[in-house]
Amino acid sequence: MSRQPAKPVRKEKAPPEVPSIITDPERNIQYDKGVFLGKGGFAHCYELKNRTTKEIVAGKVVPKQLLVKQYQRDKMAQEVQIHRNLSHPNVVKLLNFFEDRLNVYITLELCARRSLMELHKRRKALTEPEARYFTNQIVEGVLYLHELNIIHRDLKLGNLFLNDELQVKIGDFGLATTVESGERKRTLCGTPNYIAPEVLNKQGHSFEVDIWAIGCILYILLFGQPPFESKSLEETYSRIKNNMYSIPNTSSPSAVSLIRKLLDPTPVNRPNARQVHRDHFFKTGFMPSRLPISCLTMVPKFG
Ligand code: ADP
Repeated sequence: MSRQPAKPVRKEKAPPEVPSIITDPERNIQYDKGVFLGKGGFAHCYELKNRTTKEIVAGKVVPKQLLVKQYQRDKMAQEVQIHRNLSHPNVVKLLNFFEDRLNVYITLELCARRSLMELHKRRKALTEPEARYFTNQIVEGVLYLHELNIIHRDLKLGNLFLNDELQVKIGDFGLATTVESGERKRTLCGTPNYIAPEVLNKQGHSFEVDIWAIGCILYILLFGQPPFESKSLEETYSRIKNNMYSIPNTSSPSAVSLIRKLLDPTPVNRPNARQVHRDHFFKTGFMPSRLPISCLTMVPKFG
């Protein structure tokens, strides 16, 4: 048997130094560090098992070395401040936060089935009932956030986590902000994945950016690729500014109509979260009450 040549090793950011037993000193809880779940811009995430209750949670670990600058600390504090008070079936629950000598830890409700990103990579275009099921839950989570005057500002497949029941949980509040009534935000420190035209044009933005992102997400779930995708970021931004996208003719009239409303170039013309929730697309057509785990890899058979 011939051996595969060794793959070239890509230089990655070194994982943080994490003790195998992690202690929350204030609550006197000890966790066993379990498997690595994934990493983001700042954090590495592991399964953590409470040594007393045996409950397994997700633990985001941020090395203090990465939090030396004041703005980095402020950003993380802002994220925790917004996230810690949230409680909704479609929002990842933030359980605790604490630190030891090396790291800052945030414990979160475990989403063991990864995110809609991995589902999309595996399955590409989903069936319309699946797209309706997932999007409806995203809209319910976003409606909850908007009613609390919170804009997420970075809704994307990789931030829409899945638990063992395949319920959607909105996570990563790193770009989230709160707004006063009527206020329009002028700045956004970071690049959202599904960036809305009013953000690109620096016209001031608000809740409507999340509605735009839901339009992009529904489009990807139904057709397997983003609406404004192109070879270069420059071309993609130009398409977003000119509202240049096409809808494949494979879709139902109610899906087409909703996508057009969500991707309206003028923010005030987009429906708000409550109007989206009441849309025809969610009220007609089959909406499964749950999905089988097999749909992570295979087209489900309904009925
Ligand atoms: P960052 O704030 O650094 O961008 P993320 O919130 O994106 O970090 O988390 C990094 C990775 O950790 C995610 O891509 C995912 O793989 C994993 N992760 C985050 N939260 C959870 C969770 N609640 N359950 C399971 N895995 C999670």
